[in-house]
Amino acid sequence: MRRKGVVVTIDGPSGAGKGTVAKAIAEKLNLNYIDTGAMYRTVALLAQRRGINIDDEKELKALLLEAHISFKRDDKGKLRVFLGEEDVTEEIRKPEISRLSSKIATKKVVRDILKVMQRRMGRGGNIVVEGRDMGTYVFPEADFKFYLDAQLEERAKRRWLQLKEMGMDIDMEEVKREIEERDRQDMERSEAPLHPAKDAVIIDTTGLSVEEVVEKILNAMEALKKKNG
Ligand code: C5P
Repeated sequence: MRRKGVVVTIDGPSGAGKGTVAKAIAEKLNLNYIDTGAMYRTVALLAQRRGINIDDEKELKALLLEAHISFKRDDKGKLRVFLGEEDVTEEIRKPEISRLSSKIATKKVVRDILKVMQRRMGRGGNIVVEGRDMGTYVFPEADFKFYLDAQLEERAKRRWLQLKEMGMDIDMEEVKREIEERDRQDMERSEAPLHPAKDAVIIDTTGLSVEEVVEKILNAMEALKKKNG
């Protein structure tokens, strides 16, 4: 069955600028934006609260089937993440949840269930989806695929600034160690490891502004549209 709307995937390591850029592209093209990292983070938050053993597949499965994750816009148009009725947007950004989300993301049962949820959310198309395995495993048939990367120093600085803006005062070296560790786990796991899709456009965002990356993506989309008629 042919999908109705366009699907744009944006993958890459932590701090490569995926979130900011994906939101800007979605806004410019009037598409919906799905932050799949927020889904892994919300599952991690619930696992932490329940104190479950994340190595126990049955416990994880029960947790996932109970987790009701959704996205809603607030009155300023900002996207908020909900666990049931609770707004967890800020809480899921805490460093301990970042670490746990990456551990949980290595588990097959978690990836399988979240993949079904993500595909359901993207069923009608007209979406920009951001994550680690969007172009490779979840939406391999996507119309446009991008993989954003940047040097570690710059990615750590961006993540540090984001956390600072959210009122979290964390040492830059700690942020750097944390994203290095998460990238390693994301790239080395056996389930849907992080790597660019064969047909993805790879953009090194080191030294580029958000506007410059957005422009590169829009230009690449135009070029691909022309090429594919
Ligand atoms: O993108 P973000 O940093 O919010 O993602 C949190 C964690 O969730 C990542 O470190 C990664 O381990 C995991 N993740 C994933 N696949 C995705 C999105 C996120 O494995 N599609």
